Amino acid sequence: MAEVRVRIAPSPSGNLHVGTARTALFNYLFAKKNNGKFVLRIEDTDADRTSQEYIDNIFDSLKALGLNWDEGPDVGGPYGPYTQSQRFDIYPKYVQELLDKGFAYECFCTPEELEAEKQLASENKKPYVYSRKCENLTEEEKAKLRAEGRKPAIRFNIAKAQRAFHKTSMLTFDDLVKGELHVDTDLLGDFVIMKSNGAPTYNFAVVIDDMLMKISHVIRGEDHISNTFKQILIFEALGAEVPKFGHLGMILAPDRSKLSKRHGATAVSEFVEKGYLTDALINFVALLGWSPSDGQEIKTVDEIAKDFRINEISSSNSIFEYDKLNWMNSHYIKMLSIDELKERLKPYLTKYDLTELSVAQYTRMVEVTYEPLTLLSDITDAVAYFFGEDVEIDEKAKETLETETSQDVLKTFTEQSANWEWTEEALHEKLEAFRGYYKEKGIKPKVTMWAIRAAVTGRLCGADMTAILAILGKEKSLKRIKSAMKQTV
Ligand code: GLU
Repeated sequence: MAEVRVRIAPSPSGNLHVGTARTALFNYLFAKKNNGKFVLRIEDTDADRTSQEYIDNIFDSLKALGLNWDEGPDVGGPYGPYTQSQRFDIYPKYVQELLDKGFAYECFCTPEELEAEKQLASENKKPYVYSRKCENLTEEEKAKLRAEGRKPAIRFNIAKAQRAFHKTSMLTFDDLVKGELHVDTDLLGDFVIMKSNGAPTYNFAVVIDDMLMKISHVIRGEDHISNTFKQILIFEALGAEVPKFGHLGMILAPDRSKLSKRHGATAVSEFVEKGYLTDALINFVALLGWSPSDGQEIKTVDEIAKDFRINEISSSNSIFEYDKLNWMNSHYIKMLSIDELKERLKPYLTKYDLTELSVAQYTRMVEVTYEPLTLLSDITDAVAYFFGEDVEIDEKAKETLETETSQDVLKTFTEQSANWEWTEEALHEKLEAFRGYYKEKGIKPKVTMWAIRAAVTGRLCGADMTAILAILGKEKSLKRIKSAMKQTV
């Protein structure tokens, strides 16, 4: 078998979308599985919608996800350049070839004339198909139109190509994911391959690039199926080998509409900013269409690559369950080592003065706070009470502190703890005895602890209380207790 060469060809008109990340992943996995090459091509022919910022975002996001490419704009390769706008001098030769072979023709129709055709089709409730009125213009007619200052666009002659290579107007191909797909090409309409300003259109440039970059398999979203038929005919008209195609189902939001901003983050970089781990994100994205044979969903990309078979990808749409992603993210957070967590949480702690804590205190703080995190960014709120002199006391904590029991607990705690050794180990024992003392008076241990927690952290939930007291130190802990007693009595 010839070398497997696949590509991802994003248009830089936005930040890298999770849907594109999934397409990239499946291409990457397919290449890995088959010892092939994974190519990155930037399709920036639409200059108005392209920006360097988006190109950088595409590079950074793919890299962050670990989807490294073998050939691409930055790393080069044997079939470059890999940025479409740098390939404009390549396309005219192939337009000429199609013109010479009679598979393309010049079209002088003005935008107004085309609009009128579309209007008529819509009035007759018919799908719009170009009338092909320029197909058989004579040389004199063309010369006349040129003399009027009209510049022709070039259209692909679908019927001619179709009839040359297939018996009927039906075009069929065997999709790697969806099985046999077909279309009546008479309904496609002769489409423009090169605009009157010389710019190639997507359907044409993509074929030339895939052909010259020796792409063996095109794996992309099912929204491209109608393009695939057009592209197959161009490959055939140029006498090129037609790659194999595989179309992935769409990714839908939980409400089954198209996934969009109103559902939450959609770009990889947005997920990262929100505190999702790229390892979790890529694992989750793999499950949008692919299922592990052993039912074990938590897997690295390398593990997935071993198990990946393109023909086992589901041909139906997938639902982007944010809840499942959240679950997966919290799972991945728990799999990080404390040293990794210490580093990876730092970007979310910039509002605090980390120098308030020694290295050992910071380490302990991370150890006792990371487990309930869904997102890395949840750490910002989770550790608020470890910083600053005072704490803000929330409503529930305030109510707790107002009880007589709480005030009594705090008073006794202040008195008894005055001569306690203030290490976590020692505090552990002392607090146990302290709870026991109140238990004998009929106060539940958790009620005793609520009073201390409310005073020291301003909340009723949080990390292990003994650890909190140890990290904060005696002075700060007692100061907060004193202030809570004053504030609420
Ligand atoms: N530039 C196209 C897109 O972003 C790529 C299509 C293709 O993979 O052929 O949708």
